[in-house]
Amino acid sequence: MSILTEYEQKTKPKELKRVVGLDFSMSGLFVDSEKGEIANYPRYYRQALEKLAKAQRILSRRQKGSNRWEKQRLKVAKLHEKVANQRNDFLHKQSYTLTQQYDAIVIEDLDMKGMSRALNFGKSVIDVAWGKFTKFLEYKLKNQGKKFIKIDKWFPSSKTCSRCRLVKKALSLSERTFQCACGFVLDRDWNAAINIKMEGLRTLEE
Ligand SMILES: [Zn+2]
Repeated sequence: MSILTEYEQKTKPKELKRVVGLDFSMSGLFVDSEKGEIANYPRYYRQALEKLAKAQRILSRRQKGSNRWEKQRLKVAKLHEKVANQRNDFLHKQSYTLTQQYDAIVIEDLDMKGMSRALNFGKSVIDVAWGKFTKFLEYKLKNQGKKFIKIDKWFPSSKTCSRCRLVKKALSLSERTFQCACGFVLDRDWNAAINIKMEGLRTLEE
């Protein structure tokens, strides 16, 4: 029998019975491999984001350095803080629930900067949320001796059929449903989440 230190006992790897793959989602936060569910941002958060965007537009029209500009600048700063707090709260709750439910979580190692540039999205909202979320997942899993697995960003998670493993040559962003020659049909993001999970399990066996 080996004698483990308290720390080792606490962080000793658990048997991986419950594994989930998460596919990053632009509109929600992720789609999971088990039920194909989307972690939608709460309505109040979306509304706060809209308010912030509107306040920023007003600020851009004000003359820099003027009293009205200064007043608006403070308003924007306050809204920024509110949005950040709401987002952190949501990300903590989501990551907590997942790390209670699963022994291992697999995600794709995404290059968010490249992605938001390519898709012409504002950097702040999406990059920050996903980056923070994956950090929360990582430390919450580690604290429980569970596994956090990042798979290669070049792995074709969207183009692969999760049933027959055939890889499509092309898949446009507008195709929301994945259809394979083998007859398999599934929501695009759900199919990707299943592939991410399978790839994660494969890398564990290496
Ligand atoms: Zn197939």
